[in-house]
Amino acid sequence: MVVKMAVEDTRVSERERRLMGAETVPASERIARLDGEIVFDVDHFNAYYGTFRALYDVGFQIPSRKITALIGPSGCGKSTLLRCMNRMNDLITSFRHEGSMTYHGIDLYERGVDPVEVRRRIGMVFQKPNPFPKSIYENIAFGPRVNGIKGNMDEMVERSLRAAALWDEVKDKLGQSGLALSGGQQQRLCIARALAVQPDVILMDEPCSALDPIATLKIEDLMKELARDYTIVIVTHNMQQAARVADHTAFLMMRPDRAGELVEFGDTDTLFTTPRDKRTEDYITGRFG
Ligand code: ADP
Repeated sequence: MVVKMAVEDTRVSERERRLMGAETVPASERIARLDGEIVFDVDHFNAYYGTFRALYDVGFQIPSRKITALIGPSGCGKSTLLRCMNRMNDLITSFRHEGSMTYHGIDLYERGVDPVEVRRRIGMVFQKPNPFPKSIYENIAFGPRVNGIKGNMDEMVERSLRAAALWDEVKDKLGQSGLALSGGQQQRLCIARALAVQPDVILMDEPCSALDPIATLKIEDLMKELARDYTIVIVTHNMQQAARVADHTAFLMMRPDRAGELVEFGDTDTLFTTPRDKRTEDYITGRFG
């Protein structure tokens, strides 16, 4: 059911809005199309690398404290879209965008918005686990220290490792290198590192594609646990994974000019059982991709 309601902006106060440098319409004056609080509102969004258009007129909303999966064939722009959500693409000189991408009503690309603060609030976990070549403890402590987060560091490290379901496995070897852990443990360490700077959103770009099935299931269980407190957006090429973990799923596909477009967005069960678009049906039944 589509319900029109005013979005309650509970996570970003006016003071924080100013800290982020935004001069924009408060989220409470915006209209949402999904039930509940909306974190991202993507509207007529186009992304370019030089003259190549990678995303074509994408629009959808991401609700708070849910898992949203981005699926679609390789090259359809899933990672590009994900990276646009915390301005990671700023680092690519040929990148530019059109349209809007708001976060709690703040346009992330508005002049004055600080990309460093954006990336603290909207953390990212990558395909290949990438711990720093430092101790497990230092992997976690680094972010809060650099961000000037006050508090007892030992407690922060423990809290983050517990939240990432890693504490029991590493509590007796916090001084050992993060690189000595298994692949699955390294990925949970990277998730703990992302949590340590007190984000609101975790973006995950194929976080399990380098892991074995057991480590994969552990991360999936962890994602469901984390969705109680955080908004999660995951790119996955694994449709079963999307079906297992995601509350909502966005299916993207390439147009003939190779720009990615959003074909369908909906709750995961509906999208996988009764898709509205023939192209979604063809993809999920394995007819292409
Ligand atoms: P997906 O994640 O769905 O596989 P990507 O977002 O990685 O898709 O890529 C979408 C398109 O954008 C592809 O055609 C890819 O070659 C292109 N692309 C991705 N990153 C860059 C880049 N840094 N420079 C130029 N083109 C890029």
